[in-house]
Amino acid sequence: MRSGQEKPGISGADPAADRPLSCLFIDFNAYFAGVEQHDHPELMGKPVIVTPLASEHTGAIAASYEARPFGIKRGTKVADARKLCPGIAVMPARHDRYVAVHKQLMAEIERHIPLEKVYSVDEAAFRLSRSERDPARAMDTARRIKEGIARNVGPALRSSIGIAPTRLLAKLAAERVKPDGLTVLRREDLPHALEDIPLTDIPGIGAGVAARLARADVNNFMALWRLQPKQARAIWGSVMGERFWHGLHGFETVEEPTKKSMIGHSRVLTREHETPEKARIVARALLLKAASRLRHYKMHASSVSLSVRIRPEGGWQSARRFKHSQDSFLFLNLLDEMWSEFCTRQRQKGPLPRLGGVTVYLHGLAECGETALEQMELFAEPEGIEKNARRADLWKAIDDINADLDAKFQRLGAPAAQHGPRKRHISLASQSGLALNYLGVKIAFSRVPEEAEFLY
Ligand SMILES: [Mg+2]
Repeated sequence: MRSGQEKPGISGADPAADRPLSCLFIDFNAYFAGVEQHDHPELMGKPVIVTPLASEHTGAIAASYEARPFGIKRGTKVADARKLCPGIAVMPARHDRYVAVHKQLMAEIERHIPLEKVYSVDEAAFRLSRSERDPARAMDTARRIKEGIARNVGPALRSSIGIAPTRLLAKLAAERVKPDGLTVLRREDLPHALEDIPLTDIPGIGAGVAARLARADVNNFMALWRLQPKQARAIWGSVMGERFWHGLHGFETVEEPTKKSMIGHSRVLTREHETPEKARIVARALLLKAASRLRHYKMHASSVSLSVRIRPEGGWQSARRFKHSQDSFLFLNLLDEMWSEFCTRQRQKGPLPRLGGVTVYLHGLAECGETALEQMELFAEPEGIEKNARRADLWKAIDDINADLDAKFQRLGAPAAQHGPRKRHISLASQSGLALNYLGVKIAFSRVPEEAEFLY
């Protein structure tokens, strides 16, 4: 590994030429606080915290590097921060502004190098061209990016840059020096350059995977490094383990080829459910099921659509947008709103029609991974963040209980679809009129259902 100050060597005949430096990862330091300092130059070089709302009872969601020597960090309560550092600037978050500056930053970096992927409002990966893959050249490019940001956007927006053969390694490299770091991590620097890193600091190793690694006696980086791809696959319990292994060992794998852009369900309505009143319950059940899958995939949606087929012919559709969420209550409220609109429109034409089918979709999906919190902060109203997170937790708990109940019934030997009405499931009282197994997974031609769908 090299730091920015070190004189880069000549790479010459690189034994790891098959794993070239192809990724530049940038992570903005204390980003929200940086934008506040950028917009309020009098705060440059001063301790600043950003809070989700203007209240003394909340915790900081960002702390400038100048605040950190006082023991202030993300999560520190405002009142404590004022005690630790009298005079500290306390700034309520302005998420629209953080997004606007994010766009300026990406545009500036793209003047130098093509964008590969935005991970969050303050993290993104860029691609190094063939001619930039020599460590010295790559560091030159990184320095030009930093200078460009300082000159054309603002000097308050500092960043840590990591350069490595894969996105995972480049992110780990960026983490090594903060703030204002520039670190190159070559294949031949491994594993020693990372041997002190705690496993849970590595993206892709959450609490669940860490526990499984511990059970396999993998408790430090060197042990992780020695795993074989097959062992990683077994520990992760999926191909993700193998993909992680490749990322860690410097082999870039392609991103998921088919990224989910929407999740939804459609049903033809039987006579029993063809009145708008009954069909509404079906649409709600479909939406609850889609929402459960959304949470299973650890994604957030930002719009919901409804389409209704009218007998003997015709149809109606509508959609609602919202800040990214996993909250079924929010989705149901919007669905009900669309449903009322539909009924009002139809009543203006005469008696309510019989309905042939309903389709609901959740669109505008965003992943919630390691940067989930930032995503939430980015997209939610400050006062909505906590409520949104609490509700997502509640729904996740319901999903887990339902999956658990299904698994138990399956062990007892009966396939899920044969238990009759799923009375054993936790659902909303307003949904009790409909047996949820009516919505059992169907083999659709447009997509292959995944195993987990039979549980969630
Ligand atoms: Mg950051």
